[in-house]
This record gives sequence, C-alpha cells and structure tokens, in this order.
Amino acid sequence: VVEHGQPEHSVVTTCAYCGVGCSFKAEMQGERVVRMMPYKDGGANEGHSCVKGRFAFGYATHKDRVMNPMIREKITDPWREVSWDEAIQYAADRFKAVQAKYGKGSIGGITSSRTTNEEVYVVQRMIRAAFGNNNVDTCARVCHSPTGYGLKQTFGESAGTQDFKSVDLSDVIMVIGANPTDAHPVFASRMKKRLREGAKLIVVDPRRIDIVKSPHVSSDYHLQLQPSTNVAVLNAMSHVVVTEHLVDRSFVAARCDKDAFARWEKFIANPKHSPEALEAVTGVPAEEIRGAARLFATGGNAAIYYGLGVTEHSQGSTTVMAIANLAMATGNIGREGVGVNPLRGQNNVQGSCDMGSFPHEYPGYRHVSDEATRRLFEKEWKVKLDPEPGLRIPNMFDEASAGTFKGLFVQGEDIAQSDPNTSHVEHALESLECLIVQDLFLNETAAFAHVFFPGTSFLEKDGTFTNAERRVNRVRPVMREKQGMAEWEIVCRLATAMGYPMMYTSAAAIMDEIAHMTPTFKNISFKMLDERGSVQWPCNDDAPEGTPVMHIDEFTRGKGRFMLTEFVPTPERSNSRFPLILTTGRILSQYNVGAQTRRTENVVFHDEDILEMHASDAEVRGIKDGSLTSVTSRAGGTTLRVKITDRVPPGVVHTTFHFPISGANVITTENSDWATNCPEYKVTAVQVTPSNRP
Ligand code: SF4
Repeated sequence: VVEHGQPEHSVVTTCAYCGVGCSFKAEMQGERVVRMMPYKDGGANEGHSCVKGRFAFGYATHKDRVMNPMIREKITDPWREVSWDEAIQYAADRFKAVQAKYGKGSIGGITSSRTTNEEVYVVQRMIRAAFGNNNVDTCARVCHSPTGYGLKQTFGESAGTQDFKSVDLSDVIMVIGANPTDAHPVFASRMKKRLREGAKLIVVDPRRIDIVKSPHVSSDYHLQLQPSTNVAVLNAMSHVVVTEHLVDRSFVAARCDKDAFARWEKFIANPKHSPEALEAVTGVPAEEIRGAARLFATGGNAAIYYGLGVTEHSQGSTTVMAIANLAMATGNIGREGVGVNPLRGQNNVQGSCDMGSFPHEYPGYRHVSDEATRRLFEKEWKVKLDPEPGLRIPNMFDEASAGTFKGLFVQGEDIAQSDPNTSHVEHALESLECLIVQDLFLNETAAFAHVFFPGTSFLEKDGTFTNAERRVNRVRPVMREKQGMAEWEIVCRLATAMGYPMMYTSAAAIMDEIAHMTPTFKNISFKMLDERGSVQWPCNDDAPEGTPVMHIDEFTRGKGRFMLTEFVPTPERSNSRFPLILTTGRILSQYNVGAQTRRTENVVFHDEDILEMHASDAEVRGIKDGSLTSVTSRAGGTTLRVKITDRVPPGVVHTTFHFPISGANVITTENSDWATNCPEYKVTAVQVTPSNRP
C-alpha cells in the first residue's frame, strides 16, 4: 500500500524509531517517498529492517501535522496561527516575563531522544546560555538515566561497551529486562542467528517473552523472577560466582580497583545473597540461578543485553551496577563477544545524553561544577554559566505544582502521555504560565501549551542520530521542511529573541562545534560521516577509526569499580486492594506513545493496548478473554481489553502504552530510581475487575 511506483532518486538516511539505528535508502519521486529500502551498507543493520522502519513513515505527511506556528493567551483560548517571527517573539516575551516575575530558575526545557544530536545540542545551549540556568533534562530521564549513572560509576563511561556485531562471537547471551524481538527486531534477528549457531541463552524476565522459546531458539535458563527483584537475582548469581570460586582472578587483578573488589567480594559472599536465601523474594528456584551463574561464568564469551526492564525500577541504577559487577567478576569486558549492552528504546537516546541534556552535565558527560569545563563553554558561548545543577523532569513537575517553576520548553516529547502518574503531570502543566511545545502534532501535552512550534519529521532533518552501540549515523533530508524552518533554527531564533544571539550556518556547523567541544567526538564531522558511512565514538586522535569495543586495555575511569548493590524492595506493594503487579512493555508494530506509528498503516496490526492476564487470575474475577476490564491502582484507573495467556505468571499482568485512549500512565506510580529519578513504570500494584463499559 505504501509503495507508489518507480523511484527517480534515492537518499540514504537513518530510521527514526528504535536504538538499533538502521540505515535506509529512501527511494523518491520528487519529494514523495516511494519506499524505504533497508541499506545493505548500513553499519547497524547490513540490509535488514523491521516493520516500523520499512513501512511506518506515512506520519511525515499525515493530515494531522501542524504546519503553522500558533499562540494563545490562555489554554482555554482557541489557537491563533501566526508568522514564525510573531510566534518566536511572543514566546520569548512570555519567557522573559516569567523570569522577571519568578526569577532566572523559573523556566527550563526538555530535549527529545527522537531529534538529532544537533537539535538537542542547541536546546541545551539555549537553556544554559539564554535562560541562564541548567534546568535542562532529556526524555532519557524516564528510560535510560540509570544506565548513564550505573555505567559511569563502574566503568567510567555512560554507554554500552560493544558493537552489535560483537554478538556473533558470544557463547553465552544473557537478556535481562529486554524484549528485543518486539523492541529491537533487527538486533534480535542477529542475536537469534547466533543462538541457532549454538550460543547458550539466559533470559531474566517476569514474562515468557518470545525469545524464551521461538522457532529454533530455546533458552537454557528462563529466570522468571517476581517483578522488581532484578537486583536480588543478579546478586545471587554473583554470590554463586564468588562462593564457587568462578571469579576471573587474573582479569580482576589486572583491570579492577583492588579495594573496591575486596569490599564487594566480602559483601556478596554473605549468605543472605545466596540463591536459596533469596528464593522466596525472587520466586526463582535456587538451582536455576546456580545453573545460570555457572553457565555465565564458565561458558566462554558471555554478553549481557538489557533494556527498560532493568532501568525503570526504584533500583534501576543499582541493577545496572549489579550487571557491571557480574561482567567484571567473570572477566566479560573488553573484547568482542562479551560486554554490557543497554538496548536503547528511542533512536537517539544515546545521543541526547551525549549532547549534554542532563541538568548536571555538559556535552560529553562533564559535570557543570567542573571549573575547567565550564570555562571552556563560557569562552565558546561568550556567556557566564551557572555552576549549579538544574532541575530534573520530576523536580520540574513538583516545582510547577508548588508554584515556583513557571515556564517550560518541550522539544518533541509528549510528557502528558509518556510520564508516570498523569494527574500529577497534568496539574503541573496547568500551573505553568508559559508552555512551549515543539512537535509534529498537537499532542496531549499541547493541550496545556501557550505556544506551538511545528516541528520536522526525520525525512526533513539534516543531522545525526547516535544508536545503542554509540554509532553516529547521518540523517539526511529527503524533502524540504514542510513547516518552513529547521528545528535547530527555531531554537536559535528563540534564544536570540530572549537576548542571547545564537545562530549557525547549518547543521554541519553545529556538529563542528560539538566535535570541537566534546573530546569523544573530536574527529567527527558530516564530511567524515559522508565518506565513511558512520562511526562509533570515541572517535578522536587516540581512536581515529572510532571504537567498536570499549574498555579493551583499561576502563575509561582507569580501574573498573565494583559497587555494593544491596537489594532494597520497591516501596510499591501489592495488598488485598491491589493484589496484582502490572508491568509494561512494547509491541513490534507500535512505538512508544504511538504519536508516529498510530498515524501510519501499522495500525492494521494493533489498534489498542491489551492487558495480558493469567487464566487463574481471570477465572477468579469472572473475566473472559477479549472482554473489557477496569484496571485501578493507587494513582488512578483505566480500561483495557484482556488477553488470557500464560506469557505472564499468576499474580502478574502486563500492558503496553502505545494508545492515549487507554493511557497506561494514568495508573503508574510516582516511585522512581533512587539515583536518577527514572520512574518505576515496571511495577504497579493493581486490581482488575470486569468493566461495565460496552
Ligand atoms: Fe527502525 Fe529499529 Fe526497526 Fe531498525 S530495528 S528498522 S531502527 S525500528
């Protein structure tokens, strides 16, 4: 249906969905996409693709796209279309009025992991230089911020250690809290190929996801743990490694901090971390954990792949560090076939973090309080910078509700739908005196906005995305900006209208500044990427060809650091009122809150979120397969159609969050990771009853 005749020319660009970052050849007739063909020379996909990248691009020309900037005095007023000049001046005047009334720190902004590195970079510069504070955060806050924290603490670099190809040399693959078949399909195919060749598989997941048993692939261990007990399972595996003398002593002696290892070894050897002691907590038979640990430690090259089932917990950062501990203890870091690999949900999660959109870090993960780094940016940007970290997204909501945070710029994220505890988010948004939304569509967040800047789709963007393996890929425009302006230029003009002159000649010039200011990007430019196709950072004088595998001779921080990872149960508890635990995830055909895929022909595969429930839980509630149910939690309630399945065990239910009508985040809680505030989307105590709705 989406293929429309013979192409006249083609442009190589990058998929705008998941963190695999597949390259495509957009085959065109004039400015119309005829079809998206997976590109055989793409570094991440080598000619493969999935149903999203291949077919779900129709949203770029969907009738719902907003083409003109709009403003309104109050959120109850109708929108008024205006020129770009008027919209930008109006937005700047409102932001300046808010700052005059409530202070410099009363405004901030949120960057998007769907936009390019260059677009993110200019937003964080605008906030630091024009707003005069560090109130910049990224939507990675609600997905992989614990990865950034946990890997920095242990290895010294907030990024995955391997390239995707590395899995071809793995002997043991451990998948924890990730569902690559649905969420990272092209990488899942590569992983399954290796499994068919004989690699062993350990899956740690409360659900029986497809990779546990699919054609010609079967896991050797499925540790079907109770939701929220990842840390207990990982500690128990490490306990087995230590107490059964399976530690790779020569690796640890040569590569790791001696004192930190000694502390950790004593900590993890404590019998309270044994699989037997934790069996009642994890729900996993002790012998299975022992078997999985022995396989991981002795089975050859062992690699760990993880996703949001690791990070989106109150112990997300602890889990990431427990994964790093296990990899170091068994010597599975620093060569092909091993490593610790976060599978990023969005196309540019890695990039949005790299580009300095955390409130405490400049591009390249350097703390804002570091005097030398701050001086560098002050010199480059010709402005005095704030040495204090700014607000994280949840703090912005809290302060907005409290009346001290009054202005917000949101770039390409639908926070009203994607962030947890919707009623709290909506109250915060209602409290703002100036909300600017930059997006393709009038999304749920735009209902609370005073200014709407229409954005551009990936087919109109010029720039780069950085995928889960740190690969910087070119995004090339196949059509002109439909609303008349590049997103980076809108941001530059807004900063200028606020009194801080900021402009670049092109997206390439922004990348030149990124390379100049970020040591890990030093040798990267559009010219270099156009010649070479893509490159994995660090790419600098020490690694001019880029870095497919990190930490080969030493960790970025020098010696690898073992961290103490005490298991602390989630504050979310089931009880007689809310006896079931709800987890959330994704399906293959849809993407995140669905703003893009719902506006494509992919809706033929799925058009609503479904609640998975075990037959025993359905039977006691009188719930029939395919019927509507009411799902309530301490935060709120929603309605979901039920599917009775043994993919979930008794006591656990599961749903997706792709459709606003069901709004799964109406019911998720405000619990979050202790270190990064990443929301605990994966654990909500709920009750499910038959719905009265027809
Ligand atoms: Fe796009 Fe990810 Fe599918 Fe590749 S695997 S085509 S990057 S959605």
